[in-house]
Amino acid sequence: MSGGTILTALDEGELEELLSPLPSFRARQIFSWIYRNAASFDEMTDLPLSLRNELKTRFVLYGGLVRERLAGRDGVVKLLMEFSGGARAEAVLLRDGKDRFTACLSVQAGCPVGCVFCKTGSIGFLRNLEAHEITEQFLHLSREAPAPIENIVVMGMGEPLLNLAPLRKALALVTSGKGLSLRRVTVSTSGIPGGILDMAENGPKTRLAFSLTTAREDLRRLLMPGAGKFPLSEIKAALAVYQEKTGRRLTLETVLLGGINTGAPDAAALREFAEGLFVVVNVIPWNPVEGLCFEGTPLREPSPSEVEGFIRCLENGGLNVTRRYRKGRGVLGACGQLGTR
Ligand code: SF4
Repeated sequence: MSGGTILTALDEGELEELLSPLPSFRARQIFSWIYRNAASFDEMTDLPLSLRNELKTRFVLYGGLVRERLAGRDGVVKLLMEFSGGARAEAVLLRDGKDRFTACLSVQAGCPVGCVFCKTGSIGFLRNLEAHEITEQFLHLSREAPAPIENIVVMGMGEPLLNLAPLRKALALVTSGKGLSLRRVTVSTSGIPGGILDMAENGPKTRLAFSLTTAREDLRRLLMPGAGKFPLSEIKAALAVYQEKTGRRLTLETVLLGGINTGAPDAAALREFAEGLFVVVNVIPWNPVEGLCFEGTPLREPSPSEVEGFIRCLENGGLNVTRRYRKGRGVLGACGQLGTR
């Protein structure tokens, strides 16, 4: 046994190795307790007291702490987590009208992509999160949910495909620990072609959402500086490979910024980008974040007529369109609003 190991970082096999020469069923028991949301070794009541005491002295159950909890009237709970070195990330529990729960997880402390419309992008980048730091967000949110969490969206802070190996491990842990299917997981990327191809080849084969925002390449470079450097043709080719390998419909996300990307030319460019792909377009009216500007002008929410006009243009072109509901605004936990300096 080695000291200080964080147990939420380990799968059953790794736990077994760590706990050797204890019999393997002990590793199974501990793994199962972790995913039944045990908050401490004391809660693992089917382990002998002497073993619980030994575990306490040798290992750490969680590596991070919940620093702040905000609950909104719409059933949304936002947790601010703190990890080693002071790295902070936020995780959000969403509840829909049918009382189904979704966990929105972060993969980085900050984000290097720097999208101008996103609070996380405005705070810069501290570091990638480790696998257990992603897993722990899910476990803490599970404790908040009155029923099992049914879906995971990796749409919190950070670009998932710039931290793919830890994300892969975290999703493997959570899905095996909770018996969740990868079909219940959606990873949202700003469009990193190498990462999409890596996922296509090596998994995790989740649902994939691409944050397109605009298919006007020159505008996209300005709105999403760290992502706009990849040509849309290259991203589209990688998405086609992913679709081919998984047989899954892709989601194209577009955050609508009032007066910036809501016009007919924007809709036409999006339709052209979608040609040849099997997609649904998710339209997300921008959620306000104070202080964010584009070319010196404060960003604004799109008007209802801008949103409706944009959606109509897409639908007239034969695209399937959904509109993101605005959960979480009360706790600044909605899309694009996460980030604590
Ligand atoms: S929108 Fe996503 S990729 Fe862009 S800065 Fe925010 S977290 Fe990063």
